[in-house]
Amino acid sequence: MSESLAAVVGGVEAFLLDFDGPVCDLFPSGSGSRIGDGVRTPILAAGIAMPEPIASTVEHLRVLRYAAEHAAEVLDEVEQAAVQGEIEAARTAPITPGAADFLAACARTGRPVVIISNNAAAAIELFLDCHDLTGLVTPVLGRPYARPELMKPDPFNATQALRLLDRGPASCCMIGDEPTDVQFAHNAGLSSIAYAKSPRHEAALREVAPHALTQSMSAVTACL
Ligand SMILES: [Mg+2]
Repeated sequence: MSESLAAVVGGVEAFLLDFDGPVCDLFPSGSGSRIGDGVRTPILAAGIAMPEPIASTVEHLRVLRYAAEHAAEVLDEVEQAAVQGEIEAARTAPITPGAADFLAACARTGRPVVIISNNAAAAIELFLDCHDLTGLVTPVLGRPYARPELMKPDPFNATQALRLLDRGPASCCMIGDEPTDVQFAHNAGLSSIAYAKSPRHEAALREVAPHALTQSMSAVTACL
């Protein structure tokens, strides 16, 4: 299924772009542990038991999914803690090398970019504002509030994006750094480019058969 990066990019009229990964490193070097604790606090306070993997994970969105299924009465508080933690992280998150040039090149070549993220839109908008990138992205579609079941790989946000872009899926391409981004693209009929931020991420990404894989955002820009 893998094609050359240039062949995939050549047919793209609009991009759907993941945030944490291709645009920034939202939780650099294990800084997710604080937000992990933050989202667990309302569940613990309500006296609701968590299995060990959820009780110790730094992946706060796993906790959010758990809350939706097992702690519905505190889901709103858990979501709010997730949003606040992401906003805090966005203030200092380092930008991904080549991300700003990629967005500028998309604007220059008339390709709209919609951010599609499992993070909160407020955190993403803050980051874009801090880096003077707001005008290059229209719009930002973040995690549907307190509806974690609609996060990628569910195609919910693809439907919204394609409607806003007024395009069919065949001319649109998803770029993301997680297997779920590629699965999301498959589910929505989009082409996909997996962004492997390091060689150790490549095997898991190849397993879900992206149309192309890249190690750098600059390599995508070079194909525009
Ligand atoms: Mg990502």
